Amino acid sequence: MEEEDEPAFDGNIKELPYIYVDNFTDKKKKAYFLSHVHSDHTFGLFGTEKVDDLINNNAKIYMSKESKTILEHRHGNFHRLKNIIKVINIGFPQRITTNGQSFQVTLIRATHMIGAVMFLFKTDENKTILFTGDFVIEKDKIRDLKELHDCDGNPLRIDAMYIDATFDNSIYEHFPTWDLCHEEVVKEIKSWLIDDNRRIALFHNNNPNGKHRGKVIGSHRLGYENIYKAIHDATGLRLFLKLEQEQELYRDFQSTKNVITNNRSSKIHICFNSDPQQMSHDFCGVSPGDGLRYLHIYVSAQRGRYYTPDQPAISKESEKSLYLRYSGHCSKSQLDHFIEYFSPARIVKFPRNHVGGRNYNAPTKKQPESRKRDVGNVKKQLPL
Ligand SMILES: [Zn+2]
Ligand SMILES: [Zn+2]
Repeated sequence: MEEEDEPAFDGNIKELPYIYVDNFTDKKKKAYFLSHVHSDHTFGLFGTEKVDDLINNNAKIYMSKESKTILEHRHGNFHRLKNIIKVINIGFPQRITTNGQSFQVTLIRATHMIGAVMFLFKTDENKTILFTGDFVIEKDKIRDLKELHDCDGNPLRIDAMYIDATFDNSIYEHFPTWDLCHEEVVKEIKSWLIDDNRRIALFHNNNPNGKHRGKVIGSHRLGYENIYKAIHDATGLRLFLKLEQEQELYRDFQSTKNVITNNRSSKIHICFNSDPQQMSHDFCGVSPGDGLRYLHIYVSAQRGRYYTPDQPAISKESEKSLYLRYSGHCSKSQLDHFIEYFSPARIVKFPRNHVGGRNYNAPTKKQPESRKRDVGNVKKQLPL
């Protein structure tokens, strides 16, 4: 069974009270929307009884095709759940009627990870609501989101925006662009692999031997596939990953199907050893060899603290150890720009305890005491 974090979002869209988004704790709804499969967005979806409740209630769960595929690989009850999952094609507005209420929804790519989408809702009262899910977008690429502009290219009027504000804090004012991250990581890999004894270990903080060991094994290991693909595309290398379940998952997607290998002798592997002093890669499943020299590349958003755009995306700790300041969420400046660009009438930021502190426009409706306690007691796990 999949692990669950605390929920990123409480599920409620005030303007659409008969649906629930990225939260499955209230089993009385008929329509649920899932933006992506990170476990803080699937809260309440795992576990036999929970699935029973949804099936008995004849609920429907709307998501992208890729999210469905990931659930198929990871959800123990998928064979039962699949009958209530409804795939919506990205970019095609769909009309949905539930509880006698009708509205339109459009899925928009959110970049964050495979299958991640935003939801653009339009009610019959002509209200427009954007739920971003977790997302990242460069400032100059907002105009490319055609679903968020009218036919003249003007930004849509947004009545309410529910927005991923994970790094809404000035210490995360900027992150390197994904393009820069890809360019620099490829360059370092190419310049390291100059003879047959050299290898690359690529580590991200959601690998199980890392400092969050035992906490985030599972869905949060996804979201780095764009880096794997960039490396493969530029070098032809396939990355060895020891977990068979994940190998199979990546093979199911066109974009990553040739990126991961089960060849333990590959020159690059996805690493499970977070300690550069412990140079052993036994736990990573790679073929052992004499005299192998490793370059460790650590992928981390937290290392992007105080980053400024005049700096490189990679910071070098030593000749053999690099940090890639990579984030799957908007920086604070991107977030501020996105909000200003659309200037929504109402904003709800999530997660409630994002690093920027309190949600400045939290819904005024009182939360049940138990929920308050739940959220208050759990220390925030930074999505990295
Ligand atoms: Zn996420
Ligand atoms: Zn390793």
